Amino acid sequence: MNISFSSLCLLLLISQISCQPSSWLSSILESWSNGYSRPSRPSGTSIRPSPICPISNSDLAAIARTDGSQEKDFNATLASILIPRVPGTPSHLQVNEYIKTSFQKLDWIVEEDSFIGKTPLGNMPFRNIIATLNPKACKRLVLACHYDSKLISSQGRWFLGATDSAVPCSMMIQMVRSLDGPLKRHAKANPSGTTLQMIFFDGEEAFQNWSDDDSLYGSRHLANKWMNRNSTHDSCSGTELNKIELFVLLDLLGAKNPKFASYFENTHQSYLRMYQIEKQLNLQGLMRPSSDSSDREETHFFSEKRSYSLIEDDHIPFLRKGVPILHIIAYPFPSVWHKMTDDKTALDHPTIWNLISIFQGFLVEYLGLEL
Ligand SMILES: [Zn+2]
Repeated sequence: MNISFSSLCLLLLISQISCQPSSWLSSILESWSNGYSRPSRPSGTSIRPSPICPISNSDLAAIARTDGSQEKDFNATLASILIPRVPGTPSHLQVNEYIKTSFQKLDWIVEEDSFIGKTPLGNMPFRNIIATLNPKACKRLVLACHYDSKLISSQGRWFLGATDSAVPCSMMIQMVRSLDGPLKRHAKANPSGTTLQMIFFDGEEAFQNWSDDDSLYGSRHLANKWMNRNSTHDSCSGTELNKIELFVLLDLLGAKNPKFASYFENTHQSYLRMYQIEKQLNLQGLMRPSSDSSDREETHFFSEKRSYSLIEDDHIPFLRKGVPILHIIAYPFPSVWHKMTDDKTALDHPTIWNLISIFQGFLVEYLGLEL
């Protein structure tokens, strides 16, 4: 039996319980397995999916309307990250410190996963950054990006990687700043509920030619470590990997008009929520027109399209270990991909803010935040 979003909301409305379904309603909704719920894991976990109420138009409007201070914050964040970030260099360390400090200032718990990796250029130090709002929670919604930049230089200049991936990392920091109040209230009211975790991978880029051994240094290391690490909190069972309900990887974002596709069956419903939130924002006239256009053209970043191809990226080591994945990557890749022109001139700021609105809408809806 299939249940649409509108009938799900009607059911919630009839029962007078807004977005907190009672146990009987919850069990009915869960028995209708095509209802919108958190993605089910393929194996090895006791996480029980629960229904999610679609975000309201007023909450979306509150998210999408900014007063200029958010733009200022975002631009300052991007300026701090958009410098060469090759592992083992002083400017990489500077960006690493900046990311850690950004979360520490917001009272998140920051952990560093540092290790030495064997690369074609010799041993290199790598440092993944993991920021968690409430580490005692047994369930996690993960957002991830990579913060290292590719080792390319030309005429004395170093590759900057604006879309790859300074913008996705800056977006993640901006989102937690904007949603700081609602996230903290939610964590306080639901100490054992799903918490938000942000992962900044190191060493995604190959030092020479992309291969299984020369790429994804940080994500391979962390997925292996978490597969073998049992939870440090007594109330949670299983490994650190078992805690991840959904792993959303952001990559190659910031250029105008990106196109996304749904790559995985077990997270297709979550993907469709991003698609619906984009539609809802367009319908309300809350999307910003592109910098070279004054028309309010509808955006079509997300489509209902399924893709059966697999793009190698930081999600692969987690995917292979059974973690549910949403891969939000522009495909076709931006035209500046791995070129020296992947700098601030490649960016379309209205697109960046439209994406931030979609992702924030998704976070509010998924976690059940009250704005
Ligand atoms: Zn790259």
